Amino acid sequence: MKDSISKASEIISRSDYVVAFTGAGISAESGIPTFRGEGGIWSRFDPEKAASAEGFLRNPADYWKLFKDERFPVMRSAKPNPGHEALARLENSGKLRAVITQNIDGLHQMAGSKHVIELHGSAKSAACLKCSKKYAIEKVYEQLAARDVPLCLVCGGVLKTTVVLFGEPLSQEALRESFLHASSCDAMLCIGSSLAVYPAAGIPHIAVDKGAKLIIVNAEPTPLDSAARVVLHGKAGEILPKIM
Ligand SMILES: [Zn+2]
Repeated sequence: MKDSISKASEIISRSDYVVAFTGAGISAESGIPTFRGEGGIWSRFDPEKAASAEGFLRNPADYWKLFKDERFPVMRSAKPNPGHEALARLENSGKLRAVITQNIDGLHQMAGSKHVIELHGSAKSAACLKCSKKYAIEKVYEQLAARDVPLCLVCGGVLKTTVVLFGEPLSQEALRESFLHASSCDAMLCIGSSLAVYPAAGIPHIAVDKGAKLIIVNAEPTPLDSAARVVLHGKAGEILPKIM
């Protein structure tokens, strides 16, 4: 472990253009429950009902109930951990150019990261399905005390978080920017992602194809471990501060 950590620090110190790619693992260390796996949200809720675009349109009240009862209270109390903070420091030092994340909880921004690409959108805001007006999630939550489905204050349209639901495409803009970083970076840090969910997992593949050095920090093995220069199995909050 010690050797791998010094190897990872060496790669980063020799790189000018580092990009981080993060997944649910880093948020889990801040108490945000993961979706997949044992005890994950999908073992208790039907993804079709609670997180598909079709399910939402059919019955937005179910989606908002899960959000109000389960997601929002957890997200509201979650704080960034030393892993998020280490990435924010690396960005401040000028080496880390972007954090590409599959997470929707805003913890990277809370830790001080400025250039964050949210591939799966954000649960920190909602938008009107009719006129696209955006609302901070706290404002939306206030409405949920009085009604099952929050509505746009301008046009009365139904509000939905800006999270990308199943059946919705990822933002083309976010993907384009991520692909650009992946093809330009010298090193990519993949943290807390199983690297198994596409198209997001295609991003580290591009980095490897373009010759970037891959450093993987994850609790479990990933399909890209064999392509990585360094693989560290463990917690991001413990490993990242040591690397930096
Ligand atoms: Zn509206």
